[in-house]
Amino acid sequence: MFRHDKNLLHPVKVDRPNPTYAAMLQEQFGGANGELKAALQYIGQSFRVKDPAIKDLFLDIGAEEMSHMEMVGTMINMLNGHDVADNDVQSGSMEPQVLGGLNPQLENASGYPWTATYVTVTGDLAADLLSNIAAEQRAKVVYEYLYRQINDKGVRETIDFLLNREEAHNALFREALNKIQGSGSLKDFGVTPDSKLYFNLSTPGRHFSNPQANPPQFVPPSNH
Ligand code: MN
Ligand code: MN
Repeated sequence: MFRHDKNLLHPVKVDRPNPTYAAMLQEQFGGANGELKAALQYIGQSFRVKDPAIKDLFLDIGAEEMSHMEMVGTMINMLNGHDVADNDVQSGSMEPQVLGGLNPQLENASGYPWTATYVTVTGDLAADLLSNIAAEQRAKVVYEYLYRQINDKGVRETIDFLLNREEAHNALFREALNKIQGSGSLKDFGVTPDSKLYFNLSTPGRHFSNPQANPPQFVPPSNH
């Protein structure tokens, strides 16, 4: 079950309205690497997970992503200010101006509606974890792009918090992948000679030797 807490996960600050930047932030609200996608991907994957610790991890992170969505939506709402005006948004999604009465919309920065095709669920824990690690990496990249394009101190602080949380999720999913070595699609990995071949199709020159074809695993860097 889910409960709603009246507090935000982390305070959302905006120095001044900026509707064009609000349209850009829609990418992390209803875009392919946004918070709604992350929430529904992890919650959607959780149903067949047998390992109770990993199931819990998926649901905890999925619930946190909903809290991120709440923060991003709050930030977009504040950035949209109070006046619907035809020249406030210079590019990108106009929907909050022309349809939504400045409410954040479930769409990306270009106004394309959110879609469940952003979500991948395979029923294989290794494939899903790798997909989640990549999703967290992409979410971080989008927050970095957004961070560089705003000087508003409050917005920067809020984005910085969210970006750092995606790094925490990335690390937790990698830890979970390391825990399930030898199971699911990590089993019988790289057993035939075909899996150890490199087809050198751009001669002259070759920069990679034949692959080792070991199952994917993350080696934590040493602390020293
Ligand atoms: Mn998030
Ligand atoms: Mn995340």
